[in-house]
Amino acid sequence: MLPARVYNLQDHPDRGEVLKFRGQRPMDKGVDNWPEQLRNLWSGEIEWNSPMARWCTLQVGGPAKAIATPASRAELQSLVAVLAKLGVCWRVIGRGSNLLVSDTGYDGVIVMLGRKFAAIEQLAGKEAEKTLVQVEAGCSLMKLVNWCVAQGLQGLEFAAGIPGSVGGAVVMNAGAWGKEMSESLASVTFLSGAGEFVERKKGDLAFSYRHLETESMIVVVAEFLLQAGDRQAIERKGAQLMRDRKKKQPQGQGNAGSFFKNPAGLPAAGKLIQDAGLKGIRVGGAEVSEVHANFLVNIGSATAQDFLDLMRLVQEKVFERFGVRLEPEVHIL
Ligand SMILES: Cc1cc2nc3c(=O)[nH]c(=O)nc-3n(C[C@H](O)[C@H](O)[C@H](O)COP(=O)(O)OP(=O)(O)OC[C@H]3O[C@@H](n4cnc5c(N)ncnc54)[C@H](O)[C@@H]3O)c2cc1C
Repeated sequence: MLPARVYNLQDHPDRGEVLKFRGQRPMDKGVDNWPEQLRNLWSGEIEWNSPMARWCTLQVGGPAKAIATPASRAELQSLVAVLAKLGVCWRVIGRGSNLLVSDTGYDGVIVMLGRKFAAIEQLAGKEAEKTLVQVEAGCSLMKLVNWCVAQGLQGLEFAAGIPGSVGGAVVMNAGAWGKEMSESLASVTFLSGAGEFVERKKGDLAFSYRHLETESMIVVVAEFLLQAGDRQAIERKGAQLMRDRKKKQPQGQGNAGSFFKNPAGLPAAGKLIQDAGLKGIRVGGAEVSEVHANFLVNIGSATAQDFLDLMRLVQEKVFERFGVRLEPEVHIL
């Protein structure tokens, strides 16, 4: 058995071979014993055979073979290098609030940027009256929103009540009330396929509706340019948006927020689903919420297959009725 150690891509003799990300690709043949090799080559925290239902807000999903939680940027770098070397597929996730994982689970490594990637730091800004804030991707979006309130910084109040990590919110270009993450972003630092940290300024980033083109890179740090404002006014606004959210969205049932993207130039997905008469329709334990038709909720016993079947049913019915093909906003794994 090889001794446990941290594997460093930069030092690896086959660096050229290793420089390929395996995220979302099928597993290479002949890597059956990768769990043992991973255990030997990477000494960070790993949880084996962990049900994804625990990690996703839809509360469904079979086991991930491994969940790796790097404790530092160096550990993340070495993990990605080892996974590339072993030919193991992997996927980075935040808080699983926009993810539907299949009932068969994930036969690879889920990389989680958690509490060890949660730092928030105020940097000196160049623009007068604006403050540059650097946040690690594993920080929860709500922690960042609350921190901004405490500092009297405005620009991210719209995100009050959006669950998830800062990394997930950047990748999803999360938005609400007509605003989205890209508006206050200044730059994003990624871990690239070559195992290097790459900073991209906002002008070099391709954002669109609920999407950032990441080129399969990992978001590690995001910087936001925020405006100084009246602390109490910012707090009131955030609290009001939270109350509005509570009124309009289902509470206490597993969900992933808006399940479908709003089609461009047409009524919102929720309105189309509602007008197609689909509120309350169920497949197994998955239901179109009575409160908000674009929320598919887990009534307690849903499987991932129930959500997939319900998603297809909603797509078919809306297409039949309005000729519009709804696209899922939720990422399916
Ligand atoms: C009750 C509720 C309300 C919601 N309201 C809103 C809303 O108002 N507006 C909105 O836009 N969304 C909303 N959502 C959806 C969701 O919260 C957002 O999309 C959120 O930004 C996802 O963050 P996450 O960390 O949970 O990402 P995850 O669900 O973990 O991941 C989402 C995608 O991003 C990728 N990813 C995650 N982290 C990284 C990273 N560091 N680097 C590279 N890729 C990464 C994952 O692989 C996956 O493809 C809501 C969800 C719920 C449950």
